[in-house]
Amino acid sequence: MTGTPVRTHSEAFRQRALISVPGGVNSNVRLSAPPVFFARGAGARLWDVDDNEYIDYVLGQGPHFLGHANAAVNEAVSDACTRGMLFGGQNALEVQACELTLAALGWADMIRLGMTGTECVQAALRAARAATGRSTFVHFEGHYHGWLDNVLVHTSGQQSGVASAGQLSSHLADSHMLPWNDAEALAALLSVSGDTIAAVIMEPMMVNAGGIEPLPGYLQRVRELCDQHGVVLIFDEVITGFRIALGGAAEKYGVTPDLATYGKAMAGGWPVAGLAGRRDLMEPFGTGVVNHSGTFNGSVMAAAAVVATQQLLQSDPPYERVDAYGTELMAQLAKLAERYEIPLRVQGVAAAFHVSFGDPAPVRDLRSLDRLDLDRYAGFATRLADHGLWLAQRGIWYVSAAHGEQELTDTVERVEAALAEQLP
Ligand code: PMP
Repeated sequence: MTGTPVRTHSEAFRQRALISVPGGVNSNVRLSAPPVFFARGAGARLWDVDDNEYIDYVLGQGPHFLGHANAAVNEAVSDACTRGMLFGGQNALEVQACELTLAALGWADMIRLGMTGTECVQAALRAARAATGRSTFVHFEGHYHGWLDNVLVHTSGQQSGVASAGQLSSHLADSHMLPWNDAEALAALLSVSGDTIAAVIMEPMMVNAGGIEPLPGYLQRVRELCDQHGVVLIFDEVITGFRIALGGAAEKYGVTPDLATYGKAMAGGWPVAGLAGRRDLMEPFGTGVVNHSGTFNGSVMAAAAVVATQQLLQSDPPYERVDAYGTELMAQLAKLAERYEIPLRVQGVAAAFHVSFGDPAPVRDLRSLDRLDLDRYAGFATRLADHGLWLAQRGIWYVSAAHGEQELTDTVERVEAALAEQLP
């Protein structure tokens, strides 16, 4: 792309959308994205309604780990749903979908399927409360666990408390908010209030705010502390599951949670989520003691998508390729930053890394992330959209199995073109 792309049709859609859809979007997360309307996606690329082409690093906010419109997954889903979608009873594919997912995870005994990460987080908290008879839970600054009242907090800035009008401060009264990557803060809280705390929930790698890995030994120490105080450890692997390793962060960092939530990369872009965990924590769903429901849970489409995706991920694991691509791209971005003498910093893991402007010192939690110039990056991401790169405003770059050599070359060229045009 040279010059500012023409987006006449996107603009017309935006004007129409603003009349009938609040903000023109169906998810508030997308309010800050450039107002582009897309017509199609294939592999690692997207085309908007004006036929401008983009290399995609948003990947639907994570789900398209196999790239857009993966033929094997789409064929499996469309074939399966010609024979019906929902039966108000079980379908034959559900069992296989659950078995394959458990095989990928390795550590979990049972799994329930859902539609969104948000609701699986709620089921996890409910199961933990049911098992412990305790009411409160611990979550961490900058971690996102969905948009519902009891978990929604700011994932940027030093703002604390509720993050939405209509959300009451009493909704957060049953939780403790701690800084992440600080085992002693958790130890101190548990030593005082451990016997009232049902669960500790965290993104085991802090992706939503900053591509931050756990410090060496941190997850192990959290595991020990939870065991010591009888607290259920929940990993929210909605982003990391099937992405940073087949078995997610639990596999990559070698720490086993009691419960974990999944979504996004689990089903090749189809809307499927899951709650997996230890048998004793999951069985109460099956006896009906703990409620978890949903009309669309385990639909034929969902189950077919999980089966096809898991078969692909397990028969031909793309993790080494994704790792090589992301590692090289991170290095190339760092090189460009050096050449153009801009304080662009790159941090995280190859499959989900974070790009920002600011001090090159590593960030380890939300407080150090807040020292970065995130607004400057958002402006840069918007400008890169004009050069044919589709990027999240918050700085996370997701890599898929469909990104190849051509995408790498094109990406580096496009970033360089933007940098050469004017310093950000
Ligand atoms: N947990 C994490 C870690 C997430 O990143 C997200 C979504 N970005 C959610 C939960 C909520 O998932 P969903 O949007 O599918 O409800």
